[in-house]
Amino acid sequence: MNNTPLIIISLDALGYCDEETYKNLPFLKSIIEKGTWIRKVESIYPTLTYPIHSTIVTGRYPIEHGVDNNLLVQPEKKAMDWYWDHDYISGDTILKNAHKKGLKIAAFSWPVSAKADIEFNVPEVSPNPVGTYIDHLKENGSGEYIEELQSVFGPFNSCDSQKKKDEWMANATAYTFEKHQPDITFLHLIDVDHQKHVYGSTHFAITDAIKELDDRLKRMFEKISKVKNLDEINIMLLSDHSQIDTAYPIRLNKVLADMDLVNVNEDGTVKEDWQAYFLTCGGSTALYTKEDNPKLVAEIKEKIESLNIEGIDQIFTTEEISDLKSSDRAKLWIEAKEGYVFDADARDFVESRDKEPGPRGNHGFLPSKEKNLAIAIFKGPAFKESKTIENEKIVDIAPTINKIYDLEIKNMSGSVINECLR
Ligand SMILES: [Zn+2]
Repeated sequence: MNNTPLIIISLDALGYCDEETYKNLPFLKSIIEKGTWIRKVESIYPTLTYPIHSTIVTGRYPIEHGVDNNLLVQPEKKAMDWYWDHDYISGDTILKNAHKKGLKIAAFSWPVSAKADIEFNVPEVSPNPVGTYIDHLKENGSGEYIEELQSVFGPFNSCDSQKKKDEWMANATAYTFEKHQPDITFLHLIDVDHQKHVYGSTHFAITDAIKELDDRLKRMFEKISKVKNLDEINIMLLSDHSQIDTAYPIRLNKVLADMDLVNVNEDGTVKEDWQAYFLTCGGSTALYTKEDNPKLVAEIKEKIESLNIEGIDQIFTTEEISDLKSSDRAKLWIEAKEGYVFDADARDFVESRDKEPGPRGNHGFLPSKEKNLAIAIFKGPAFKESKTIENEKIVDIAPTINKIYDLEIKNMSGSVINECLR
């Protein structure tokens, strides 16, 4: 059994396109120099945080692990539920298998980890639950331990800024390592993703957020180094996707409303009698139908094609979605051109250039689009020093961890990145 601690940190939305910024920052530069740096990591489709993090812990594609979107298909709800619970992932995961092997696991804001059977868990959960946020957080994670963390670091509030929340989680990660030395620690840092959604992918606020991220990591690992030499820890920094600038909304649910397949309430929610619905992924959107009806799907495809919508890049059929390994439930998947974003609203227009933009940056686009590529940096006893790899796939992360820690994860589609291993 390999007893080197492993710390996996997801740097949400830090991309290959940010390379000139991040590779020169003090902490990240030192990790790159002492470890294996993968400059371009191709993610999975859709490039959404929850499907990707499910792939990171399984080595399988969305069609195989079952998490094909951030959101469940609940168009009648004002705020749809996300795939919060770890049980949404079918089959083996790093968390489940490591726990079965008796390893001590900690996870901080890690997507799709609610109610996971692990020792220290502060999961990412709904920011607007029915009861109080703190009770909801405790019900979905390690209740008593969350109380302990709050007594040390103050309350973790869903309404705080993303920077403040990231800082809390990084502090909790260092504290937990100092006190309990988990075998595997997961941490998800979100501020770069948040800033890109707000400002677009190249604004100076993004450079600032990446500098703050570097500093946050540096301070966290300084604390960790007081209890264990960093050379004796396997550190895996990775991202899930990047973001592409978006300005112009497309509303394909308006097409469905015009075809009488959805009826809309005044507040924009969809009535329960919907027959078909496009669930947005930002840079792409997926069609779900209540009943299996290939004829209806063909009619919808024909209708959309007849509209010659400027911002549509590609339309994938059910068979093509299966080839992309994205979903076994979605009937059509539609990819936007750069600059365009799919908006869930079923009212007012199909495509607009004079509507105030929502998020100025987005993901969800095809993982092969260069501006959407992710990155990875590994350092520690398991990994080669001063090694650069140009291209890898995110589905290969779990098989690599599985090999290092012998977790016996079954049915993985990815393969081991042998090039990074000593
Ligand atoms: Zn993300």
